[in-house]
Amino acid sequence: MRMYPCIRLKKNEERRLLAGHLWIYSNEIDVQHTPLNAILPGALVRIESYRGQFLGIGYCHPHTLLSARLLSRKEIPIDTHFFADRLKRALQLREWLFQTPFYRVVFGESDGIPGLVIDRFDSTYVFQISTCGVHKLKQEIIQAAHEILHPKTLVFRAPASTMSQEKISMEPEIIGDPLTEHVIIENDSSFQVDLTSGQKTGWFYDQRNIRTRMRHYVKNKRVLDVFSYIGAFGIQAAKASAREVVCVDSSLSAHELLKKNAELNGVENMIKPECVDAFEYLKQLKNQKNYYDVIILDPPAFIKKRKDHKSGSIAYQRLSELALKILNKNGILITCSCSMHFSLEQLKDCIRRAAIETRSELQILEQHIQAPDHPIHPAIPETLYLKALIIHKSSS
Ligand code: SAH
Repeated sequence: MRMYPCIRLKKNEERRLLAGHLWIYSNEIDVQHTPLNAILPGALVRIESYRGQFLGIGYCHPHTLLSARLLSRKEIPIDTHFFADRLKRALQLREWLFQTPFYRVVFGESDGIPGLVIDRFDSTYVFQISTCGVHKLKQEIIQAAHEILHPKTLVFRAPASTMSQEKISMEPEIIGDPLTEHVIIENDSSFQVDLTSGQKTGWFYDQRNIRTRMRHYVKNKRVLDVFSYIGAFGIQAAKASAREVVCVDSSLSAHELLKKNAELNGVENMIKPECVDAFEYLKQLKNQKNYYDVIILDPPAFIKKRKDHKSGSIAYQRLSELALKILNKNGILITCSCSMHFSLEQLKDCIRRAAIETRSELQILEQHIQAPDHPIHPAIPETLYLKALIIHKSSS
């Protein structure tokens, strides 16, 4: 087997890995023994404990705080065969979970490929690369994908934040057949998606179950879908017999696609798209005393890094209060957070405080997490990132 350069951990720093986690931070590495500057960004490495005990094979970035991620605990080459095996297992699970070919096939660490997300849109697969290590292994991954997924088209994307942190440069790349218009199906609704310049991979599969639950509350109701993107919640609310739906998002491209999607589903007369800032819009509604029966809040992650915790918590709090002020009595608030540094308990606490501030009496009816095509790694709390509460505002 090809020998990978070695990184040795300091005494006792193997404990997290032995407990099941896959990450190694730079301060855990014995750089006297195995200097990091000898390792190229993204290189495959052999990881061992301070005693020289083999812990696994991973990839390393010598210049980032999170320096290495484990790919395998066995001493095997990380090659096409390795990725084919990982993809096969991930695909089998999704084929078991879902009847239609629209889902997240690979969810990074939870599917044994840290740094890689793959979303399936029928025979087109969108790859989101978030580490230099995965970027370097792209050719092996492409070969494995051809073998296991039999794609017509592969789309490669990397979030801007990753590219600057990990110092990789990558334009969105399309391999295989040119992209045509893509339509995905969720429940009884169809959505045209933009796989190259839409948000993240183009669609948020993680909210699937929460949208399905939302449909139970909207019949004959006035619904406000805040941070609506291309209409996943709003259009399904309209299809589930809402009386009227207002969709609010500040992105012009999302706004345009939302209008197309409303037409695609024959609900354009019931949907009112608003391309504005959500906070400003909610304030206006309050001033106009314009109340809604069901309000959905699905904002972007306000807390991307730990250091944003305070400002992010304040934003969640403000948003919750604004929404409660325009929620009718006997109304439903569906509030979500996709910040991994904001726990379900913190989301509940935010709601508790917003209830006091707005003198609302609330009852939490349901709590949800991301859909099962985004499995949670039991040793990696960061893999549980999406939380949602369905809340009733009492009529008293
Ligand atoms: N609810 C959507 C996903 C929302 S993603 C779904 O289920 O598919 C978050 C959305 O918030 C993005 O579309 C982004 O354009 C929008 N956004 C971010 N900041 C905003 C703001 N201040 N006002 C309105 N929309 C905002």
